[in-house]
Amino acid sequence: LQGGQEHQGAADREFENNIRPREMEEFSGQAQIVENLKVFIKAAKKRGEALDHVLFHGPPGLGKTTLSRIVAAELGVGIKETSGPVIEKPGDLAGLLTSLEPNGVLFIDEIHRLSTVVEEYLYAAMEDYRIDILIDSGPNAKSIQISLNPFTLVGATTRSGLLTAPLLSRFGIKSRLEYYDAATLQKIVARSAAILNTRITSDASQEIARRSRGTPRIANGLLRRVRDFAQVLGNGVIDLAITQHSLRALNVDEHGLDEMDNRILGAIIDKFKGGPVGLTTIATAVGEEPGTLEEVYEPFLIQEGFIKRTPRGREATEKAYEHMGRKMGSRGGE
Ligand code: ADP
Repeated sequence: LQGGQEHQGAADREFENNIRPREMEEFSGQAQIVENLKVFIKAAKKRGEALDHVLFHGPPGLGKTTLSRIVAAELGVGIKETSGPVIEKPGDLAGLLTSLEPNGVLFIDEIHRLSTVVEEYLYAAMEDYRIDILIDSGPNAKSIQISLNPFTLVGATTRSGLLTAPLLSRFGIKSRLEYYDAATLQKIVARSAAILNTRITSDASQEIARRSRGTPRIANGLLRRVRDFAQVLGNGVIDLAITQHSLRALNVDEHGLDEMDNRILGAIIDKFKGGPVGLTTIATAVGEEPGTLEEVYEPFLIQEGFIKRTPRGREATEKAYEHMGRKMGSRGGE
């Protein structure tokens, strides 16, 4: 429930699509990104050109897919959606690219998972709107060049660190989505509740916002579960008492930290005496990739003041000790 990244079922996807903002005006937060995009979109439309290729990167559930669809909608063009691992062969990519309308959008989620071969075909497509496809093999092999309509590639990734330099350099617009503050999340929860025809008090939406790890997907997911409790245990109205009861029953952490967050803090404190300890060492201790730790988990823990980055590694803060119910003792290695 807490993880923004576990695989979703059809019902979850349907729920998510129902409450997904469809225009810039409905999209809260990420103000700088939104303002810039509006300018770039306007300019591209004025020139009658395709918008520059866009890369959205940042942790899961922060609105990358949502923004991509909004970009296409504001451009007034269609969007084809796919994801890195789904495009197996250059021919799959060619099929997608040739089916785009002029200035249309191709959205590739998890773009860090494109195969090397497909990625290389993408370079020419992005740069010159053409694709060279090898037909046949052996002595009959020949390459034919297909010219494409101008298009905008919108890529999304949680792991920008895994993108190659040549691919990165072909995106004219790169935006990093940040975790949402509680006030913005509260607005998002209130909006979702309204779409679900559910009444929610403002202290209840605030409580959900505060415990959603800065992530709209988690906030909406919690809202959905709390609504169940309100309908079964109460009169359907979501108030603070029912919210607190539900979040307790769901084992939602006081600060909205998820299981991996707690493991990371636990490791730094219990195994490495609070740090400083290197990222790779922590990664080994919690069984996660260092890159994922750095791009997905750590930014939130740093933003919320649970860990500090120092030249010698990561340190747990007093807030982390309090959260984990440990006493802050003498630090290791000092
Ligand atoms: P990502 O692609 O980054 O994993 P999504 O775009 O799928 O995230 O967003 C996850 C969910 O959160 C969607 O249901 C969407 O409605 C909601 N959401 C994300 N960002 C916002 C926002 N800024 N305002 C309102 N809802 C949002």
